[in-house]
Amino acid sequence: MKVLLTSTSFQDCEGSHKELLNKQGWEVSYLRGPLKKSEIIDKVANYDALICGDDELDREVLEKGAKGNLKFISKYGVGLDKIDLTAAKDLGIPVTNCPGVNQIAVAEHVLAMIFSFFKNIHLSHEITSQGGWERPLGNELFGKKIGIIGLGAIGKELAKRTPYLGLETFVFDVNLDEEFVKSNKLTALESINAIFENCDIVSLHVPLTESTFGIISRNVLQSSKNGLVLVNTSRAGLIEEQDILKAIEGGQISGYLTDVLSIEPMEKNCLLYGKPGILITPHIGSRTLETIQRQGIFAVNNIIKLLC
Ligand code: NAD
Repeated sequence: MKVLLTSTSFQDCEGSHKELLNKQGWEVSYLRGPLKKSEIIDKVANYDALICGDDELDREVLEKGAKGNLKFISKYGVGLDKIDLTAAKDLGIPVTNCPGVNQIAVAEHVLAMIFSFFKNIHLSHEITSQGGWERPLGNELFGKKIGIIGLGAIGKELAKRTPYLGLETFVFDVNLDEEFVKSNKLTALESINAIFENCDIVSLHVPLTESTFGIISRNVLQSSKNGLVLVNTSRAGLIEEQDILKAIEGGQISGYLTDVLSIEPMEKNCLLYGKPGILITPHIGSRTLETIQRQGIFAVNNIIKLLC
C-alpha cells in the first residue's frame, strides 16, 4: 500500500509514532505540508492513503484521487476545514481525524501566549537579546475576566485551569455541557457578543465550518470591552484580519495573540506581520513531543482500522 504523509511534525520528530508507521510495511512517501492544491493535485492519485495536515483537499483534488488509487484520508490533527467532507462522502473516501489528543497542549499554549503578552516576555526577550535593559510595564492576570468561546475539548482544558489563576471564567457554546459548567464553577453567557462585552480576554475554540466562518465579525469586535485581548488558536477564518487591525487602531482590542493565519506559512505581505499589539506563533499550539506521538499513533491506527 502506498501512503503519502505530509505532516511536518510527524516527519520531523522521532518517537513511537514513527516506529508504528515503519512496522506496517507500507510504501511511505513524504512531502512537506501544508500543501497547496497545485502541489498535491497531480500526485494524489498515486496513493492509497493520505496522512495529511492542513493540505488543500478540495473536491477537484479528491476527484483526481478517487479516479486513481485514493481510498483513505487520515487527518493528523482535529480540524477538518481544509478537506471537502461532502466531496469525500460523495466519492466514498472515509476521512478520519484525531480528537482527544491535543487539547492539553493547545490549552497550555493559550496560557503561554496570555502570560507572554501580559508580562511582555516576548518584548523583554527581544530587548535583552540586543543588549538592552528597557523595562516594559506589564499587567497582572489576577482578577481579570476571561471568556471562552467553544467549550469543547480544548475550551474545557482551558476552563479547568483559568479559575486557579484568579481569572473569572465565562463560557459560551451552542451545545453547552451544563454539568461541566456547574462542576467547574464557570459562568455561562448567552451569546458571543455578551462574552466580548464582559471580558478582558477572549479565547476562541470553535471549529471553522460554514456556520462559524467570520463569526467574530466587525460588529462583535466593536462591541468589545475596551482594550480586550483576543486569543485565536482555532482558525483564522473565524475573523477577518483586516477587522482585527481596525479594532486595534480603534482601541476596542489591545492585543491579538494568534497561532493561526489566513495564509500559512506566513507570507511577507501578511497584514498582521510586525504590527503593534499582535503576537504570532507559527501554528505550534499542539506541537509538543507528547502530542505528536499520541496524534501520530492515532492517525496511523485510523488507517489500520480502515484496512481491517
Ligand atoms: P471540539 O470539537 O472538541 O470543540 C468545539 C466546540 O465548539 C464544541 O463544544 C462545539 O459545540 C462548539 N461550537 C461549534 N460551533 C459553535 C458556535 N457557533 N458557537 C459556539 N460554540 C460552537 O474541538 P477542539 O478539539 O476543542 O478544537 C477546536 C478547534 O481548535 C479545532 O476545530 C481546530 O480548528 C483548532 N485546533 C488548533 C490547534 C493548533 O495547533 N492551533 C490544534 C488543535 C485544534
